[in-house]
Amino acid sequence: MASLRSDLIKDRGLFEKVAAELNSRTHFVLTCHVRPDGDAIGSMLGLGHALGERGKDVIIYSEDAVPKNLEFLPGTGDIEHKLPETIGDDVVLCILDCGEPGRIGSKSEQLVEQASRIIVLDHHLDNGAFANEEKALAYIDQDFFATGALVMLLLEHLKWPVTKPIATCLYSAIITDTGAFRHSNTTAAAFEMASALVEAGADPYVISNHLYQSYPERRIHLLGLVLRTLEVFDHGRVAVLQATPEMFRITGAVPEDTEDFVGFARSIDTVEVAVFVREVHAGHVTVSLRSKEFVNVARIAKAFGGGGHFHAAGFTTTGNTAEVRDAILKELGKLYGEL
Ligand code: AMP
Ligand code: MN
Ligand code: MN
Repeated sequence: MASLRSDLIKDRGLFEKVAAELNSRTHFVLTCHVRPDGDAIGSMLGLGHALGERGKDVIIYSEDAVPKNLEFLPGTGDIEHKLPETIGDDVVLCILDCGEPGRIGSKSEQLVEQASRIIVLDHHLDNGAFANEEKALAYIDQDFFATGALVMLLLEHLKWPVTKPIATCLYSAIITDTGAFRHSNTTAAAFEMASALVEAGADPYVISNHLYQSYPERRIHLLGLVLRTLEVFDHGRVAVLQATPEMFRITGAVPEDTEDFVGFARSIDTVEVAVFVREVHAGHVTVSLRSKEFVNVARIAKAFGGGGHFHAAGFTTTGNTAEVRDAILKELGKLYGEL
């Protein structure tokens, strides 16, 4: 059987250019999107280990902290959360799981300006942010189920060994972004690559326990409060959950404790669109959107200045949770009518 994974590369020329840069250059800064998830951290560390093993000089930078349940990933202790004034000459900036500079965080301008070369590896809706950036090679393909998969293909192409730490990071990236093989992006290639990563040393049971069975108690207390806010609209096709500053205060929970709460709204049988609106600090709202079939939630997120994928998107805005919920319902009605 031909390798399912090699079929994933649509733009061979660009892919080979990226691989050649990784191979020939010596100084790298790796970064990912703010509020990093398993794909962001996993793909960044996976590539970081591989470059490090080739003797290259690598800084791994994430503005935000690593979520607790990802701390087990090998290398998280080496992630920098503060950037030096200058990153040095002739540095390649690799941006993983993020296609727009703004989503790197507050240091995005400095990084983009100081890098002599930029490599973007991503699978979000491409808004062309790097299209006119001469020093950028942007490999962005929405058909990839995880950025970690793109990293794995690059390592295979370069014939760089996939060691156990690399396999652990990339397997976690794939598990995170396919929702443990439940999302619509789960393909035969996803299983094939996960299988190869297990052969290379990733331990599925250990990783799943870290990812899904290692939450702090406060998360479950917060979940109890959030679930009580459930509202359904459009004959049960839209479900909304909310978290207020008060709930965070009572439970002592932090933003990362709400990871995948939107999944509870999505899990209702009639639901097509699931919305989770959380206000951690008064007036600052972060929204997670999910859909099951035909609603392109990235379009809705885009209307509010955010982005994402067809079935999973998000944005950040100002207001309180009720106002933001109403605005989303209005936008949904505008784009799709009554569901
Ligand atoms: P989340 O609900 O935070 O898990 O995000 C779902 C998807 O939407 C992820 O693929 C994110 O990368 C994307 N996303 C979330 N927030 C934003 C944002 N403010 N801007 C662009 N994309 C976002
Ligand atoms: Mn991500
Ligand atoms: Mn991703």
